Amino acid sequence: MCACFGPSLALYNPGEPYPLVARAYELISRCTVRDFASELEQRKQAGLYRTRRLISGPQQPALVSDGKPLLSFCSNDYLGLASHSGNLDALRNALPDTGLGGAASHLICGHHEAHHELEQRLARFTGRSSALFFSTGYMANLGVISALAGRGDTIFSDRLNHASIIDGCILSRARVRRYAHGDVVALEAMLAETSGHKLVVTDGVFSMDGDIAPLVELARVCRAHDALLAVDDAHGIGVLGPHGMGSAMEAGLSEQDVPVLIGTLGKAVGTSGAFVAGPELLMDYLVQKARTYIYTTAMPPALARATVASIDLIERDDARRAHVMALVDRFRAEATAMGYELMPSRTPIQPIMVGGNHQALALSQALEARGLLVSAIRPPTVPDGEARLRVTFSAAHTMEDLEQLLGALSSCRELLTQEGAEV
Ligand code: PMP
Repeated sequence: MCACFGPSLALYNPGEPYPLVARAYELISRCTVRDFASELEQRKQAGLYRTRRLISGPQQPALVSDGKPLLSFCSNDYLGLASHSGNLDALRNALPDTGLGGAASHLICGHHEAHHELEQRLARFTGRSSALFFSTGYMANLGVISALAGRGDTIFSDRLNHASIIDGCILSRARVRRYAHGDVVALEAMLAETSGHKLVVTDGVFSMDGDIAPLVELARVCRAHDALLAVDDAHGIGVLGPHGMGSAMEAGLSEQDVPVLIGTLGKAVGTSGAFVAGPELLMDYLVQKARTYIYTTAMPPALARATVASIDLIERDDARRAHVMALVDRFRAEATAMGYELMPSRTPIQPIMVGGNHQALALSQALEARGLLVSAIRPPTVPDGEARLRVTFSAAHTMEDLEQLLGALSSCRELLTQEGAEV
């Protein structure tokens, strides 16, 4: 914490706001603990500066950014359900009954029957005994990991796990051992030399690469070494497995194999929030111990109703999954033929590997000039030297949309092969 932010720094004075704000800026710029301005400048020089894009209108797949129409290939709305009319109706219809806000945390008076119904639906959908609804996937991972492991325990975490898993591990105060991406042999060696409580945690589908964790093997070594396995299937739920039940069910793994299954609802499900599913005993324990569940306002109950509607749709509509997979197959064949480097992914996450940060930004900008929105993903989200364009597909995309992307990629390929090209 910067030492110069003294107790006298009150920014808000209705009679005289501007001198106080100016004083705050002056203090920040004089602060010797950290030079914020030059850190930001360094980020810009390295091509790592992050900006936010202002979007208007419904989000998928055509959107308006700064008044300009763009076709988006970078959202996680894999099934095109974020703007589905049935889900919007479910939300609208629920509001008179539930009101808007969650009003309090679940343990005070915020646990509405709509939340309860959603939890039961999520348990049935994932083939688990019970489920617990969290406000976001980030909070689910923080809460679940820090509740299930603590001082003296050991967590084993895949090197490419999502930031929220990494932060959950840090928060737990357990010893953390990271194993090479997907390397079950390395994990097993670590498990064999560790005593005490062990928690293994992995993404089901890796968010920046699109590949799937070796879940069958992970379940086997966890069983052999008495480790609890937690799978964050944020990008598999709705997309993989029978009726979209996720990567664990695609691999034929039951609650005994994967006792802790985490999923998010803001991606393929198209709403917001997250859940953990598993044995009732575990859910009971999490209600007592998961601080990000206990100390936060419950999600709007109407959103829970819309989420149930969306899950009903996911379960009965296999055509959406088939369509998005057909887009993926065609994209992979064409982009590879053009000479783009892809990752070994069979999910709607199809990164184009570029390497340099500036190069990735240049390719993203070139696509934007052609009416397409595809974000450049740079370190620290991905390892140094592995900047990429994270192309994602949605059932809301048509084959014509895909043709437009392929056409643009074809012209941009030539631009990028020119020496030092900055488009
Ligand atoms: N886990 C993974 C693997 C993710 O990719 C994300 C978000 N991108 C999260 C958790 C966090 O989920 P949420 O956006 O609901 O906070």
